Amino acid sequence: MIPDVVSRLRKSFASGRTKPLSWRREQLGALKRMLLKQEDDFLAALHTDLAKNATEARRTELMFIVNEVDDTLEHLDEWLAPQPAGLPERLLPAEGRVVREPLGVALIIGPWNYPLHLALAPLVGVLAAGNAAVVKPSELSPTVSAAIARHVPAYLDPEAVAVVEGAIPETTELLEQHFDHIFYTGNGVVGRIVMTAAAKHLTPVALELGGKSPVIVDTDVDLLVVAQRIVDTKFMNAGQTCVAPDYVLAIGDTAAQLEPLLTEALHAKFGDDPAASPDYGRIVNTRHFDRLSHLLAGGRVVTGGQTDRAAKFIAPTVLADVAPDAPVMGEEIFGPILPVLAVSSLDDAIAFITGRDKPLALYAFTGSEAVKQRILTETSSGAVTFGMPVLHLVAPELPFGGVGESGMGRYHGKYSIDTFSNLKAVLDKPLS
Ligand code: NAD
Repeated sequence: MIPDVVSRLRKSFASGRTKPLSWRREQLGALKRMLLKQEDDFLAALHTDLAKNATEARRTELMFIVNEVDDTLEHLDEWLAPQPAGLPERLLPAEGRVVREPLGVALIIGPWNYPLHLALAPLVGVLAAGNAAVVKPSELSPTVSAAIARHVPAYLDPEAVAVVEGAIPETTELLEQHFDHIFYTGNGVVGRIVMTAAAKHLTPVALELGGKSPVIVDTDVDLLVVAQRIVDTKFMNAGQTCVAPDYVLAIGDTAAQLEPLLTEALHAKFGDDPAASPDYGRIVNTRHFDRLSHLLAGGRVVTGGQTDRAAKFIAPTVLADVAPDAPVMGEEIFGPILPVLAVSSLDDAIAFITGRDKPLALYAFTGSEAVKQRILTETSSGAVTFGMPVLHLVAPELPFGGVGESGMGRYHGKYSIDTFSNLKAVLDKPLS
């Protein structure tokens, strides 16, 4: 069955069906139409799987993809136009250019935390670049997976886009097939399995992985704004966001000052009882609930700490006095627990970060251009944002992806086109 699906898509691709610009535009338009027309169904599915509230789900899942489609349609001609390349004088007379051609059949393997966004945003680039694709949504968000499987074939060209649902056995079988690109979002353990399988066919991969994204807080900033912005981004989707601030490195006495401000910001956002707040999400399953519950012991609870296993609820929690070797500092938290560590200087903050795996994103609040410059030149991460965590993710002009343990490959906007294209070098020398 799976080999048949892939071979059908391969035949479609070979027939040239996916190459015309008109087909690409039609598919992107259909993807947008599907998201807008089936919005209620997708929102209900996101609520069932992750208790996502409609406002957040609309913004971070559906509209994210719609905006990516709109931006891609607006720039598609420009991004696909052959790019003239200046040649050195010794090769003249001749002309050079770079032409983007589709790779073939791509495999997208999505995770559960933004199950719609992370299955379909890569598809925007796949289609815009003229490829066929298999989409494999996460089995840990089964209602969203079923909604994708139901709606995609009704809107997109079934000869070129297929949805395969399933868990490890199905993904393993998919990985045995020959694809022309594999785009995986998830954790590094499975990332290694994906890359090993891809090596057999020399298939290029993008691995969008996670990690511990730190926040540096300098001494010269308005800590009220800092606390609000950290809370807004950390506790979205109950902390289950790959680019969520993982922990805070607070310089000097800002750690102590942040404690009441983070508490206040949390109260303002979710009220006195976050369990009763319609805006606050739940942990995806009991395995993750149990893992996170153990991490709560990693420090002094400043606010939060309450749990309810039956409801998969963990209160938004701030921990202080956290030892650098506590379990909560050993793995990506991926949940609503925020350790705040006091460090004495920027040097210490930088040494802390560079002594660990390269993060997917690094955030800093500082009023100093010199500090910004030091952070940029002395640390390595997939992205850096100053003044507002997570925001880089929504700018299609910026490449999104990780480095080292946080992954490889880039997407969003034009970077998606490049990821799913062969950048073919063309040189044309006159015969006389
Ligand atoms: P997950 O468990 O849903 O796994 C992702 C996909 O891998 C699923 O489709 C699943 O079926 C497949 N899979 C799981 N085990 C497999 C195996 N043994 N063989 C083949 N396929 C397998 O998601 P997850 O890994 O729990 O997601 C959380 C991680 O993803 C976090 O580390 C997070 O930071 C990261 N993440 C990264 C990004 C990003 O854009 N960089 C976005 C979201 C999540």
